[in-house]
Amino acid sequence: MGIRRLLTSLRALVAMPDRLSRDLRHLKSDLGSTIAEANQRTAETSERTARKHQVDISALRSELAALRAEVGDRLLQNQLQLGRLATLVNSGEEVLPLGRRVPTAVARVRAPQGVSTASDLAAGTSNEWLELSACPACGTAERTVVCEWNKLVLLETAPDEHAMRYDYAICHGCGILYATRRPFGRRYGYLLEHFEDVIDKNGKNPLLNPHPLTDKDRDRYRQLIARGVFVSDHEDGDYLSGVFKDRFANAGHVDILGSLLTPRGARVLEVRPRAGTILEGLRRHYGADVYAMPIWESQQFILRELYGIQTSELIDFDDFAIPFDEPFDLIVCNHMFNHAVRLDRFLAEVRGALKPGGHLYLYNEIDDGEFLQSGQSMIATMNPLHLQACDRPSLVRAVASSGFEPVFVKGRDRRNFCLMRRVDAPDWTPVPQADLGKRIDLYRRARDRAVLRAPEGLRARFADVWPVTVERAVASGVARFDDEGQLRIVKQYE
Ligand SMILES: [Zn+2]
Repeated sequence: MGIRRLLTSLRALVAMPDRLSRDLRHLKSDLGSTIAEANQRTAETSERTARKHQVDISALRSELAALRAEVGDRLLQNQLQLGRLATLVNSGEEVLPLGRRVPTAVARVRAPQGVSTASDLAAGTSNEWLELSACPACGTAERTVVCEWNKLVLLETAPDEHAMRYDYAICHGCGILYATRRPFGRRYGYLLEHFEDVIDKNGKNPLLNPHPLTDKDRDRYRQLIARGVFVSDHEDGDYLSGVFKDRFANAGHVDILGSLLTPRGARVLEVRPRAGTILEGLRRHYGADVYAMPIWESQQFILRELYGIQTSELIDFDDFAIPFDEPFDLIVCNHMFNHAVRLDRFLAEVRGALKPGGHLYLYNEIDDGEFLQSGQSMIATMNPLHLQACDRPSLVRAVASSGFEPVFVKGRDRRNFCLMRRVDAPDWTPVPQADLGKRIDLYRRARDRAVLRAPEGLRARFADVWPVTVERAVASGVARFDDEGQLRIVKQYE
């Protein structure tokens, strides 16, 4: 319980105002004698000397004012810290340095001016925003906004200053996190086309190339594809290394689906496959009849040329539709729950394209424990293409509310996957109150941590909320002031 450390901190805090008052008293008395001395001299010497002393006095006065401000800051810090100590129940806290003392310095920074760039013309002119009045999965209107921004607030690539504001909320029904305001149409299209910029990743991987292919790209891809999937490291030359990587990473899903469903001759669709591993595996092992809906031309090209898989046109995230007429036995979706712009329509479309009793398999969905229960920044994880996030129970509730029942649900490597069966009528239970309260609390902490950890150069963007965030973070134990008055983030173990 660290009582001793707690007492030490308390003593240090209690001692602080005394020390500062002492300093203040000394300075006041120094100033008093200097003024008296100056007055005396002024009477005896010339006006010129008096003016010089006036300068000394005003220098001392500003020093005194600075000290007063310092005392005020320290008293505020102590007050915040004492508020925390009064309710402290945590133990085993470990502190991480946050950098030089920031709270007062940053609190005085002017409000953010936005980060408009030349691309404003591409995305900023269209007012394509959806304002959601209810959860896009379960339809519950009650919610709590827990974080204002997506990752663009941490980047220099936002198309305009509106683009970083999503007002993510927790749904009081199914418990998922969703963006209550989100772009659609050209605005969303812009983010997708600038994929590497808005998620801050390097776009050299051919499997993650969001751009239309040129003839030169096609020739190059054909050469790489010609070498196949299994190019051994004892051989030289270029090949599509991402395909083998995908094969290795996703072979487990082939195993799970094959073991649980034995999809012999089944009609299978994968939405947003990366390199076709699951489809190719189900076809090879079970003779499944497979189809794909790719996200980018590069993936479409690889699926067609490498595996000969029939693909649709590119996915329209905004107006999602499955363009195959015959119903499917199984629809596999990679990371679609996180991305769907109109989640309700997406889930309805998928359900409508399944045979009665058919299966939906969602995989690669972010587990929000990634930022709720570890040091990772929530804002950095929620890039502007991530419109939903959840834990496993919330994911199951959200999908169940659209007419499915869970068959097999697991998480691995901070990603969740679930096999769901289409049912005639939705049957689900809202998140228990205690769990909801805990989720909202964890999200608030994650948001505060992410704000306080924003790189120093970007803190001006948080100027409006900085003082309130510091106050709440200290009160909740997310951060604390050390004996030097430096704000520190408390490492989370929960
Ligand atoms: Zn919901």
